[in-house]
Amino acid sequence: MHLKPAPCLPLIIGLTLASLFNRDLLAADPPWYQQVLVGIETGPTGAQFGHSDLNDTRYCRQFNGAEIVRQALACQAEYLVMWARDGDFAYYDSKILPKAPGLGTRDPLREAVDEAAKSNLPVIAYCVVQQAGHFLDAHPEWQMRDSQGHPLGRFCFNSGYLEALQEILAEQMAYGVHGFHIDMLDQGFGKPYGCWCDSCRNAFEKEYGVDMPSGLEWDASWEKMLEFRYQTSERFERSLHQFVKGLNPQVSVDFNYHGNPPFSLEVGQRPVQHAGNGDFITGETGVWGFSALTIGLNAAFYRAAVPHQRVQVAMQRGVRMYHDQTTRPLNDIRWELLTLLAHGAFVTIVDKTAFDGQLDSRAYERFTLVFEEARKKRAHFGQPAHAEVGIYFSSRTRDWIGRDQPQEYFQSFLGAHKALVYEHIPWGVVLDENLDLTNLKRFPIILLANTAILTDRESELLQRYVKEGGKLIVTGHSGQFDRLGKPLPHCRLQDLIGASVQTRLASQDNWFAFSEEDKVRLGKAAPNAFAALPTQSPVLVKGPASVFQADAAQAVGQLLRPFRTTRQQLGQENTDWPMSADQAVGPAILLNSYGAGQVLTFAGSPDYSTASEHHTVETRRLLRQAVRMLAPEPRIKITAPTNVEAIVTDDRQTRIMRVHLLGYNPPPQTIPSQNRPYALPALMEDRPLYRVQLELNFVPRKIHKLNASTLLEHQERSIRATIDDIHEAIVIEY
Ligand SMILES: [Zn+2]
Repeated sequence: MHLKPAPCLPLIIGLTLASLFNRDLLAADPPWYQQVLVGIETGPTGAQFGHSDLNDTRYCRQFNGAEIVRQALACQAEYLVMWARDGDFAYYDSKILPKAPGLGTRDPLREAVDEAAKSNLPVIAYCVVQQAGHFLDAHPEWQMRDSQGHPLGRFCFNSGYLEALQEILAEQMAYGVHGFHIDMLDQGFGKPYGCWCDSCRNAFEKEYGVDMPSGLEWDASWEKMLEFRYQTSERFERSLHQFVKGLNPQVSVDFNYHGNPPFSLEVGQRPVQHAGNGDFITGETGVWGFSALTIGLNAAFYRAAVPHQRVQVAMQRGVRMYHDQTTRPLNDIRWELLTLLAHGAFVTIVDKTAFDGQLDSRAYERFTLVFEEARKKRAHFGQPAHAEVGIYFSSRTRDWIGRDQPQEYFQSFLGAHKALVYEHIPWGVVLDENLDLTNLKRFPIILLANTAILTDRESELLQRYVKEGGKLIVTGHSGQFDRLGKPLPHCRLQDLIGASVQTRLASQDNWFAFSEEDKVRLGKAAPNAFAALPTQSPVLVKGPASVFQADAAQAVGQLLRPFRTTRQQLGQENTDWPMSADQAVGPAILLNSYGAGQVLTFAGSPDYSTASEHHTVETRRLLRQAVRMLAPEPRIKITAPTNVEAIVTDDRQTRIMRVHLLGYNPPPQTIPSQNRPYALPALMEDRPLYRVQLELNFVPRKIHKLNASTLLEHQERSIRATIDDIHEAIVIEY
């Protein structure tokens, strides 16, 4: 690492400051974030819930910037994100904010920057934006308001808070930090939505020439309100970015991103609109908030949202979440960190000190080991991803079909991802906001997972994609709703599907049934692709379903509606629990050729079903069989246990394909103290032992592995490996 600390700023604010720097001096160095792989974020524990005791001198008494840097260097972290400000306190000598009471005359940010300068360790200031606490209490005029005018306990991004935050950043910048990690640019994580403060009302009126809607209505006026909220967040981010760059263009700015599931409109972020407003994107992950499976999905989602930028993902040290002062077992930390690296991210482990500011040496022993492993494997991370299926994510469907229940839409997207990971079919994410034909054509197959709303532009691009040889898998109610989430008279995908929609089933507990004849019929289209078609009895395919009338398409199998008891028909009993299959109401699958391409439509939702509580293997495998029918000879076919995630990169320049294998191996969990049966997974202690088979459609030149313990055999295009570790990468030169 040859990084120079950014020059110090005098503690005054003014745009003329920019002229104090010799910009050329640093311009030749690549920015710190272009080359790093692993880093540490260190922050205190005790003020995270806000409104903490201003006079408690026990808090942060030993929170020592120099010691934090020494520990970060000892474990060979490549950068340090140093806690500088939260909703209550500054952790430096601020003229604007109260300082954490236990610090006395000490200044941890100064200590950290001075100590780090000896080793050229980049120090990034962690600065929170959205947290209730003493500063918000002192400035009620900047509070968000609900539609009745009640304060919401959050800062409004259209208020004078922007200027205050700029002053705060300028104070921190004066220490010579290399960058800012600006956290929590959210407008809340649930109802009630904001903001109806006077500043927002005036700005809205000026922009749209009408009054703000009086509340959530799901009509054209709320569309303006949503747009206004998104623009507010974007403007705020861009203003902060420009402000910092105006003072010193070498100082980086990144924002903690909340555009991916499970977040939705409440946060005030859209997947693409709010991804690229900093120098790189930062997101957080972890089993505690996102599930074990979506750790990789988050990284891929961020990469899709800002393809031109690097991606940082923050993960936590704690067993349950941040601040709990526990440390996960080594293999549990390894699995998450290496999964993120394999997906091309660089990774920050978030460490929280004890209440008095002490560091936990046990945690740093483990960080040392995982960082050492990451560095040894550095050459194998960051290559272009190889993906066979692009999973389509529609922000418009999120907002206008998901509305204030976005999980219902997310289930289809998440289930598609789950199915592809379990089936080891390389996947990527496609986002509606930055869609173009080149982006679509990166994927041999696009999966429209209940993409209920498609604009004219998206429909045209999808038509061209298929006409020119692309393959499409369609599920749920894709293409059947207008931009405000109202049903359309005709499905926008009618020509592509080769069938018209007769009706949509109101039920979720829908079923597919297939006969031996169906298997023969599908076999004609692609031998063996549907060899595992479930023909014995109907299978539950929980999720949205459509009744189609085939036109040009070939119809296969049956969609069955569920029985409803008499009490259910009378509305005296809910229909949450699945009921068995009743009559057939339409076909299950439609196959259609369109131009040089093909479209396979499921009348139901095997994707939603796979994410649901009533997932079955048979239903999930329908998706794999559909992929294999459309693409019988992919570049690579992977067979591995379902607890192993395979991440494939393909560097066409160096002609090296890498298959990263991540074995997820937690032991069984016991009864939780609350929310039974929703148990969090247990933590991984042991290394898994598993076999993998890879079939290539090209002849490799040379094959090797990273682990000495892996047993590797290969014959022409076939590779077998027996692996006994959390992570291995099979390196295939061609
Ligand atoms: Zn406001």
